[in-house]
Amino acid sequence: MENLIIIGSGPAGWTAGIYAGRAQLAPLLITGSAPGGQMALTSEIENYPGFPQGLSGQELTQLMQQQAERFDTRVLIDEVSAVELSSHPFKVTTYGDEYEAQALIVTTGTSPRKLGVPGEAKFTGRGVSYCATCDGFFYQDRQVVVVGGGDSAIEEALFLTKFASQVHVVHRRNRLRAEKVFQERAFRNEKIGFVWDSVVTEIMGDGKVTAVRLRNVKTEEESTLEADGVFVYVGTIPNTGFLEGQLELDDRGYIVTNRQGHTSVPGVFAAGDVQERVLKQVSTAVGSGAMAAMEAEKFVAELEDRAYPERTG
Ligand code: NAP
Repeated sequence: MENLIIIGSGPAGWTAGIYAGRAQLAPLLITGSAPGGQMALTSEIENYPGFPQGLSGQELTQLMQQQAERFDTRVLIDEVSAVELSSHPFKVTTYGDEYEAQALIVTTGTSPRKLGVPGEAKFTGRGVSYCATCDGFFYQDRQVVVVGGGDSAIEEALFLTKFASQVHVVHRRNRLRAEKVFQERAFRNEKIGFVWDSVVTEIMGDGKVTAVRLRNVKTEEESTLEADGVFVYVGTIPNTGFLEGQLELDDRGYIVTNRQGHTSVPGVFAAGDVQERVLKQVSTAVGSGAMAAMEAEKFVAELEDRAYPERTG
């Protein structure tokens, strides 16, 4: 029987591990299939306090893991396939085993949203990518397309200029959503060009990607843009499929919590992007991970108090 299982290994999960470990809960942290989550896929993080020169998402993931392990968080590389929250202790099933826990913290984050156009699935891994940090290197002196206008699209477009000869950012509007600092850098970068008011309608290729089909949403004009790679950054969706019917999710699938990270099930807490609809930052995930761990500690302590007979006199 575990005191606390933390599901997920992004910044919220590691922080929950640090706090719960220091509270001597000896938490078990189950990493999921992609340790580090969206943080680990980020080429450079320069707005997380304490690292004035910035660092890669991989580096920050490793540092957070080391810190959690220093306080006796046990790390299990496995993926949770199901949970049973209608009875206590809670049951957690992974692909490898089954566990029981007094309390849970869910920090499963989000995954990249797919474009949903013909050719996307067929060419995934053969020119279509959701991770410039992982795949950018393969596009030395090649032309790539980045789809989207948010922080991820523009930050990763900038990263891709280290390798690619030309980066075409295709955005469905004529204004970017990304932070101003990213916008200015992108507008100044000679390797980055913008295709405004346009959407990708098809990804074409012959064994691997060779071009994308575009439609201008204002003029309805169609065109073809040659490209060796397509990097898709059109937002994210919460990783909550395994929780359906177990606790309250909102209309977009995010876990509903209060400010302390309590979910609709007492003893189950959530932190990080999986419950955050507005500001998805490493710094906000860290704060909510700390909060959820403190609340989980209180919950476990209260359970233990109840296990002792009431004192009289
Ligand atoms: P996002 O902020 O939701 O941006 C998604 C972009 O994709 C938007 O520009 C959107 O267009 C576009 N889009 C959505 N659906 C589309 C479709 N079907 N076809 C074409 N374009 C589509 O997502 P994100 O950039 O992945 O960022 C996710 C969260 O992480 C955000 O909260 C972001 O601030 C945060 N983040 C922060 C940093 C950082 O601070 N360094 C880095 C990365 C991510 P519209 O603009 O027209 O809606």
